[in-house]
Amino acid sequence: MSHLYSKQYEMLDMKYNFAAKKVLIMGLGRFGGGADVAEFAARAGAKVIVTDLAPAAQLSDSIGKLEEFPDIEFHLGSHDPADFKQADIIIANPAVPCDNEFLEIARRDNKFITSQINIFFELCPAQIIGITGANGKSTTTALTAHLLKNTIYENVWLSGNIGNQPLLTVIEKIAPDDLVVLELSSFQLEQLAEIQKAPNVALLTNLTPNHLDRHGTFANYCAAKENIFKFQKLNDNYPAVSIFNAEDKIAAEWFEKYNKDAGRICFRFSTDDVSKEIRDSFTLPGRANLSNLAAAIAIAKYFGIDDDRIKNSLPDFKPLPHRLELIGQINGVSWYNDSIATTPQSAIAALEAFDQPKIIIAGGYDKGLPFDELGQKIATNVKAAILIGQTASKIASEIQLFPEASAKIQIVNSLSEAVRSAARLAESGDIVLLSPACASYDMFDNFQHRGEQFCKLVRALNI
Ligand code: ADP
Repeated sequence: MSHLYSKQYEMLDMKYNFAAKKVLIMGLGRFGGGADVAEFAARAGAKVIVTDLAPAAQLSDSIGKLEEFPDIEFHLGSHDPADFKQADIIIANPAVPCDNEFLEIARRDNKFITSQINIFFELCPAQIIGITGANGKSTTTALTAHLLKNTIYENVWLSGNIGNQPLLTVIEKIAPDDLVVLELSSFQLEQLAEIQKAPNVALLTNLTPNHLDRHGTFANYCAAKENIFKFQKLNDNYPAVSIFNAEDKIAAEWFEKYNKDAGRICFRFSTDDVSKEIRDSFTLPGRANLSNLAAAIAIAKYFGIDDDRIKNSLPDFKPLPHRLELIGQINGVSWYNDSIATTPQSAIAALEAFDQPKIIIAGGYDKGLPFDELGQKIATNVKAAILIGQTASKIASEIQLFPEASAKIQIVNSLSEAVRSAARLAESGDIVLLSPACASYDMFDNFQHRGEQFCKLVRALNI
């Protein structure tokens, strides 16, 4: 056990006293966060129970990560109120809404409820850069970490909602002079608000409606996002730095509001800030990605990285999969996988990224988001829309509201039918884009699964 770890452990022990406690992990999940905190608690000597509504068969990867800890008990397929009554500490997955009935049971019994991200924020010795927004979070987070790597900061840790290696189990390796770059979701920011914590450096990419199925209203969603600025500490070891998108309406309003705080460093970024030289060394398509680059540069500049360094490191940036990812060209048709596009705004951004004639494959799980703007964009900008999933007819009706619509609309029953149909309609020079504007849960495990299926189906066309 390293020195740092023992110090962190003592802090944790004082606060949570894990070694003497029964810890219930609520929501193991498939993205690694649940397994990370379960391992962390088990290593700290807690008696760990993991519960999840999903059955074991759907959680095999996460269960596999905990093989080394035979004492961890798994109560899967449903939640048992008895587990919540017996536990001393409940660690809730960010996917669990704060008003969940089982958490209410725990609260009534005065149990201590926390989360993986909250524990991380309590223990992390390094500065945390937090990035949130409706769209572009992962790209901006990855770009930021890329620009800061191999500079004076020896270790730059990239994690959070982006789904990389979670950091709690490696916290002993994080040194005070390192930098931690985290993508933060509205769910994680709600959890952090409970302990009034926020990153030292906070950035909002943009804000449009998302996750209304969970937050209820856009105002609630905005309130969760605003926590990233609201709980920044103005008298911490590090300055509180708040960075806003000058081209986004809400971000611009928040800049005016927070810029008034004495002791807070506020600044804005815009695509206009990105020089021609830097644009030329950046390969990601579309104006939205340029905005993400402008955001990452704003952070990098705050940490003293100069233009030359930025320009020279950009060609090595590896684009994240499932984000406007070129799968291949078949008979002159370019096929793009943008399965990550789970909001109407992100699908609009994807359509705006290309000038060529486009066929879009869209639709999926209904999060309660409005499709009016997307409908208009599709009506006037694409050759054909092939629609799948729960939201197919909703999107189709929005497109049909525009009598000038030139887009051909087809509703099909599966992704494979959609791919076949797109292949029939596409001509040389066209782009076929899977940019669903919706989550995937109605037909797939998650967006990765949807994107992988799409890539497979497209590659099979080539045979
Ligand atoms: P997030 O992590 O917020 O979901 P990603 O960086 O993974 O964002 O990008 C998701 C999708 O959203 C991309 O495939 C792209 O179509 C779109 N997108 C990316 N950046 C932006 C942006 N700044 N504004 C609007 N849409 C964006």
